[in-house]
Amino acid sequence: MAYDTNNIFAKILRGEIPCTKVYEDEHTLAFMDIMPQADGHTLVITKEPAETLLDLSPEAAAAWIKTVQKVSKAVKTAMGVEGFVLMQLNGAAAGQTVPHVHFHILPSSLGALMTR
Ligand code: ADP
Repeated sequence: MAYDTNNIFAKILRGEIPCTKVYEDEHTLAFMDIMPQADGHTLVITKEPAETLLDLSPEAAAAWIKTVQKVSKAVKTAMGVEGFVLMQLNGAAAGQTVPHVHFHILPSSLGALMTR
């Protein structure tokens, strides 16, 4: 499907709507989720326009996972948790609501998330 340039994360990337930024580099941006499913819920997105993992270039995917690793480490330390969950939904059928590829970093145990 064609990339929707009006999706909310595209607008965040263009600076048209605000976000609470936690990290940015040439290829990626990380910011706090507006409706956190756990304290410290953070999102990591690519600057390359892509709806799902399957639409992303291997180069952008590599830069993205590097940022996910870096930001996960910082979130884990900042939140003082022993573990964290990564979640990444691809396609509306999987529950993806924002059609710009993103990782969720959830500084909590999966058990705690399931009971929320
Ligand atoms: P789901 O909504 O089922 O979690 P996604 O994986 O597409 O599906 O997640 C989109 C995420 O984007 C949600 O966690 C939502 O809270 C978050 N979100 C939506 N709008 C904003 C925004 N303006 N700033 C930060 N996070 C946002």
